[in-house]
Amino acid sequence: MGAGLFTGLALGSEARWRNPCLGALPADLARHDLVLSALEGLDASQLLDTHAHLLGTGDSGSGCSIHPSLSQWWHPVEVLRRKGILNAACVEESVPSIDRAYVDRLLRLAQDFPAGARWWLFAFEQAHDDAGRPAPERSTFHVPDAYAAQVAVASPGRFAWVASVHPYRGDALARLEAALAGGAVAVKWLPSAMNIDLRDPRCRPFYERLARAGRPLIVHCGEEKAVPGAGRDDLGNPLHVRAALARGVTVVMAHCGSLGQAADEDRRSRPHVPAFDLFARLMDEPGHAGLLLGDTSAVFQRNRPASVWRTVLERQDWHGRLLHGSDHPLPGVMPLFAPSRLVQAGLLDEADAPVLLRVRDHNPLLFDLLLKRRLHAGAARLPAAVFEARALARQATTVQPS
Ligand SMILES: [Zn+2]
Repeated sequence: MGAGLFTGLALGSEARWRNPCLGALPADLARHDLVLSALEGLDASQLLDTHAHLLGTGDSGSGCSIHPSLSQWWHPVEVLRRKGILNAACVEESVPSIDRAYVDRLLRLAQDFPAGARWWLFAFEQAHDDAGRPAPERSTFHVPDAYAAQVAVASPGRFAWVASVHPYRGDALARLEAALAGGAVAVKWLPSAMNIDLRDPRCRPFYERLARAGRPLIVHCGEEKAVPGAGRDDLGNPLHVRAALARGVTVVMAHCGSLGQAADEDRRSRPHVPAFDLFARLMDEPGHAGLLLGDTSAVFQRNRPASVWRTVLERQDWHGRLLHGSDHPLPGVMPLFAPSRLVQAGLLDEADAPVLLRVRDHNPLLFDLLLKRRLHAGAARLPAAVFEARALARQATTVQPS
């Protein structure tokens, strides 16, 4: 992996380029106090990671693709290239099938978790043009609904699947209907990469159907410096999710909108402010209390300001509306996490850092969960409800049958 791959990340001494991809946790680590105490108090049967990416090249007939010129960056914000992504997921380029190796590794990682722990796996729609036609040349990667469904159905004890349907397509509603019938638990959009304006009238029937089905819409908001896909940063404005909320859709804002800047369109001068501030504004608007949620994926990466880390931990009034998400395979991108910075910020006990780093060499997903269990701002920490996705259970009880 060449220098420059992770341009923009200032690397500390604990940052290494490569994920060593070690096997299952050794016994001493699996029985370590930190590991046991972090899992204590969690109802394993409810443990849910609501943000995990599937990825593939299509070499198993999955229909997945990665843009051939992946010198562009594939994932929102983070500067990852093909080799970096595959290494994060512990997939060798030389394996017989990259599609299969990706899922196999995820299943192996799951074995270090208590039985009952589950992951939501994301399909990932292509970019479309304004007329609703697929634009593969602008799609950094693609994971079809059918493939996500197939992977989930093969391991129902571990996986559920999240559909991704572009709302401008002529057959968008039919596809949404098929996804709901096929067991999709949510829909994922990445507006800036897929070219989706959340305020476009074509989204309305989509919102209405989702609201009736009681399925959440997971939306990535915040800046994308690296211009994946369609590169429409302006479409990632957190304030735009009001259009979906107004139709009664449960919206999960991925990463709590915690990266980059967005225009404050509520003010005439439209100043650029941290996207996270706009997420916070929406969370605090009384009308959204029952509808707007956030996920914790990527929030504690080193590229977020300490003020964001602290706010997410301290705002206990938000905790009932937060969901645990890992953004797999990103926890396997070694330079993205720096426990030492969390220690410096006073949010992680110093003795925890080396243990967490050891866990990460074996299991980045477990590392991500344990880290979030150990973080605290004084006495404030993310409660079990976040990891047990209780916010979703609450949503489900308020849904009308469709
Ligand atoms: Zn993601």
